[in-house]
Amino acid sequence: MITNHAATPIISARGLHHSFGRTEALRGVDLDVLAGEVLAVMGPSGSGKSTLLHCLAGVIKPDSGSVTYHPGGRTPVAISALPEPKRARLRLTDFGFVFQFGQLLPELSAVDNVSIPLLLHGARRPEALSKSADLLERLGLDGLGSKLPGELSGGQAQRVAVARALVTSPAVLFADEPTGALDSLASENVLTLMLDLVRDSGTTVVMITHDARTAAYADREVIVRDGAMGAGYRASA
Ligand code: ADP
Ligand code: MG
Repeated sequence: MITNHAATPIISARGLHHSFGRTEALRGVDLDVLAGEVLAVMGPSGSGKSTLLHCLAGVIKPDSGSVTYHPGGRTPVAISALPEPKRARLRLTDFGFVFQFGQLLPELSAVDNVSIPLLLHGARRPEALSKSADLLERLGLDGLGSKLPGELSGGQAQRVAVARALVTSPAVLFADEPTGALDSLASENVLTLMLDLVRDSGTTVVMITHDARTAAYADREVIVRDGAMGAGYRASA
């Protein structure tokens, strides 16, 4: 058998089921996210994409099925079996998150927003600020660190959110329609800069999008329909 390092799963989900009241959001999803890949998750609105992402990232615990995280060189973690305090800890240490809207704290400057995860990790403020400023510069935001989120354009604010999600060098970045609120030029700009950074650092990305142009930036694409993987999908080779 040929071992292909690039095809090692970093997250494997098996038999995920999850309901909200009577709504079955996930009805038996199997998915391997491969280490280092940029995976696009597509599918119609309401098909279960966000619920799937929340299960993979340990934001919610599925009603049944398992999510296993395989951190490089460490013991696999059964995320779906962990109590919330441990899942919260894991999200902070190993994962980054970018959402569509309203994720920056409006009363803090851009650089302060980016620093938050570093400070939560116990970094000292001067180091946190300098690292955050460097990352903002790499995202084309030099000189904008002292601006409040309300003083930035939508695309600039999303780049600040990307910086905040990546400042701790997470193993996996979860992005839920990260450019869904932007026009196509701003969207392309955010994606290009974000993917340059993650490809440099080997960060795995799970990115929900309903836009084929956005999915074209990914290494692989899967489709969720009615809480299940789209036709032709196999979780692993
Ligand atoms: P998508 O991200 O593909 O649009 P979601 O995962 O958000 O889909 O939602 C899947 C289904 O679960 C939808 O029918 C949605 O209305 C429902 N749902 C999602 N989150 C909740 C919630 N917190 N409470 C009730 N229903 C929810
Ligand atoms: Mg969604």
